[in-house]
Amino acid sequence: MIDDMECLELDGSRGEGGGQILRTALSLSMITGTPFAMDRIRAGRKNPGLLRQHLTAIQAAQAVCGAEVDGTFPGSRTLRFKPGTIRAGDYRHAIGSAGSCTLVLQTVLPALWFADGPSTLRITGGTHNPAAPPADFLIRAWQPLLQRMGVTVDIELLRHGFYPAGGGELLARTAPVTHWQPLQLETRGDLRRQSAIGVVSGVPAEVAKREMQRASSQLGPLDEELRVLPSSEGPGNVLMIVLEYPEVTEVLSACGERGLPAEAVADRAAGDARRYRDSGAAVGEHLADQLLLPMALAGRGCFTTHVLSSHLKTNCEVIEKFLPVSFDFAEIGRQVRVSLA
Ligand code: AMP
Repeated sequence: MIDDMECLELDGSRGEGGGQILRTALSLSMITGTPFAMDRIRAGRKNPGLLRQHLTAIQAAQAVCGAEVDGTFPGSRTLRFKPGTIRAGDYRHAIGSAGSCTLVLQTVLPALWFADGPSTLRITGGTHNPAAPPADFLIRAWQPLLQRMGVTVDIELLRHGFYPAGGGELLARTAPVTHWQPLQLETRGDLRRQSAIGVVSGVPAEVAKREMQRASSQLGPLDEELRVLPSSEGPGNVLMIVLEYPEVTEVLSACGERGLPAEAVADRAAGDARRYRDSGAAVGEHLADQLLLPMALAGRGCFTTHVLSSHLKTNCEVIEKFLPVSFDFAEIGRQVRVSLA
């Protein structure tokens, strides 16, 4: 049983009230050695409590640091987590559903930057899910900025997995960080290339072609990459718009859904891409909330973004509870500069 007195008490219903509060708490509990107790987990979601993806993230964290844990069952709305010592290793985890591999990876990877040697992390489940970063986003957008902050990391997409079948696989290789570099990302430079990646598995290639055509009607000419996967990896469809600048690459995406026309899928991704492109900000809405934790670990840094999302504000609050850092927000025209004070 974990002693009440020593736990950091966290309310999972604060702000966004989603799974990120839990994942950030797990990462930083491992890194700082601070035990925590969380209640009202994912109270802001229509299916609150722990889902398979969250249970896998907790198990993965437990495997990495030998934590003592209470409250790990499907639907649980409370959790107690007392971390042990982080150990390097070759870890494998299966979500056992189409729960997001990328979100499980983002929970455990930061802890391995503080391990006693290099590690590998192999996760099976969904790799391109709605409401989660697609694997290509981690590889093209998130990873290069981590590397710039001094992190050794190489993420590989071994097999695609979509909701509801899952079955995708990600492999990450990483090592302890020896020297953190602050992230300074206030400007992105001029657009160098814009492209669309249309992915289909067990869905006609025509769907991805229509999506890419529609996206280019909204964004101007796009280099096109059509990925037609074996139908055994599906069914699934995702459209990703990749915008490459000298300082950053952004990936804006939308997943196909049964009953949703290809054009509507394209409008979602292209709309997000256009808003980001027009804003002039260095990073988009999702990349912004996913840079906060590594930036806080580096101790210094700043970036500009165009949306002060509830994910971003909530994540800042959780990070500030574990680490001696304070985020600062300054509005500059249509952009917000987020920095560590
Ligand atoms: P939560 O909803 O609290 O489980 O957190 C979801 C996480 O997924 C947040 O970090 C979001 O920014 C991220 N996310 C959601 N959709 C996308 C997307 N299309 N591309 C990249 N990241 C995403």
